[in-house]
Amino acid sequence: MMVHGKNRIGKNLSSTGSITYITTDPTKNEALEGTFFCATVDEVNLAMQKAKDAFIAYRKVPAFKRAAFLEAIAEEIMALGDALVRRASVETALSPERIESERTRTMLQLRLYADHIKEGSWVNASIDLGDPDRKPNPKPDLRRMYLPIGPVVVFTASNFPLAYSTAGGDTASALAAGNPVIVKSHPSHAGTNEMVADAIAKAAERTGMPDGVFSSLNDNSFSVGEQLVKHPDTKAVGFTGSYNGGMALWRLANEREVPIPVFSEMGSTNPVYLLEDALHQNDAQLAKTMAASITLGAGQFCTNPGLMVGIESNALKSFAAVLEEEFQKVIPSVMLSAGIAGNYFSKLEMALQQKGVTLLTQRSVRSDRTENSGMPGVATVPFKIFKTNPLLHEEIFGPFSLLVICENIDEMKEFAALQKGQLTTSVFGSEKDFSRTGDLINKLLDKAGRLIFNGVPTGVEVTTSIQHGGPYPATTDSRFTSVGPDAILRFVRPVAFQNAPESILPDELKDGNPLGIWRKFNGKLGKD
Ligand code: NAP
Repeated sequence: MMVHGKNRIGKNLSSTGSITYITTDPTKNEALEGTFFCATVDEVNLAMQKAKDAFIAYRKVPAFKRAAFLEAIAEEIMALGDALVRRASVETALSPERIESERTRTMLQLRLYADHIKEGSWVNASIDLGDPDRKPNPKPDLRRMYLPIGPVVVFTASNFPLAYSTAGGDTASALAAGNPVIVKSHPSHAGTNEMVADAIAKAAERTGMPDGVFSSLNDNSFSVGEQLVKHPDTKAVGFTGSYNGGMALWRLANEREVPIPVFSEMGSTNPVYLLEDALHQNDAQLAKTMAASITLGAGQFCTNPGLMVGIESNALKSFAAVLEEEFQKVIPSVMLSAGIAGNYFSKLEMALQQKGVTLLTQRSVRSDRTENSGMPGVATVPFKIFKTNPLLHEEIFGPFSLLVICENIDEMKEFAALQKGQLTTSVFGSEKDFSRTGDLINKLLDKAGRLIFNGVPTGVEVTTSIQHGGPYPATTDSRFTSVGPDAILRFVRPVAFQNAPESILPDELKDGNPLGIWRKFNGKLGKD
């Protein structure tokens, strides 16, 4: 398959710039086929203009047609077959099996949003009939629902080249809601991005979507991303990546003349609490479970458990010993890119140099290192030292976890109080544990988007009740999820129609409920 390297601006391909870059295979450090053209200022402006124009038509496209568009995207991506799997695998060092499972997840997400908008009640329609005879003032007729927000800029994630990238959750939810999308491709998997962007363009053509409903722009520096966030026609931003990146974009968006929402999903250490009785009953199995979770996919998940906390005991010692054994067995994997591997090692080295930190897995971390491979590691630190050293509280993106050892439950509660906002928090505990931990669980609830009992944080189910998003700094807006059908709510705004004539009202709000959706009528949920 020929790699064209061009920017996709609606239906057209464009390569007017002179700055180019390539992608590399992190396993071999070899250049891959394709030269990618960074988008110019004019190309960014053209993509935005097209998105603005497309919004006029796309917002009126009925839900069943938008659903057909999403389903067509899924079909076109599948039609790329093994070529897509090969390119994504070679650009990210993720195995073909992992890429295939990510592709399955991407299909599931696209179809989930398609079904969600076909069913219709997500618009949260509500009608309160007016009463012209009410005294002293007539009551107005009020009808409210969610409407699309406008062009959405999506920054694709390095660690999910399909499921959180070009046609991933952010793009799918924004398109589902009725918004055009402009993707800023991730420079490390620009070839994968191109294939998926072309598939989306084919799907748009096939289902008769307006030109400009989707664009994808290349860049390997910050300038295109910054221009997109600052552009007056951008109405919202979806981002997955580093804290620095996510916050830089959030700041830019808030410094605009008209600020816009930025939904940045950033770092998390996903602390795991090992309560005494649970540990005592099952230390070895728990250690095996934790080792598998920490090292899964070279630890390159936003839900990777970067911190564990337990109370000093023989069971905790035995847990640490089995953890160490398990880590020695792990075959290190090549990380997503040389940059990510470099970050991992420098942050890890820094953490290991801190006073009181003891590395359990000497062989794994320091020897046998091949270029770009993420050697797994686990270390311990007493809570008394941990609490005085903020550097140890930070995420180390990769297969590493720090076990914090407390002297008693009060220290564990203090540890909980020190935690910043998290995507997840896990608690391994028995009923006996829960009966004596007092208000620990309530403390944890305030810090996490998802509280997990007797399970590891890795593995995010795509389902209606999932919450993927936690208090700052895990995300910039903890009121939303970036996974599951409700992720669509990031890209809409509620609008009320007051005393609007029937001809103006969207079908969702018309008398007689022509779409047959669940909605509130004078405060009561129903379909009548
Ligand atoms: P990143 O550096 O945050 O980059 C993500 C995307 O945002 C890239 O397309 C990047 O553009 C863009 N970007 C970053 N900073 C920007 C800025 N100031 N202005 C405009 N655009 C900006 O993340 P990454 O490349 O995926 O990995 C780097 C680190 O992020 C990892 O080592 C890890 O610590 C963290 N990470 C976290 C998660 C998570 O889920 N929490 C996921 C992935 C990575 P360019 O690359 O073109 O400059």
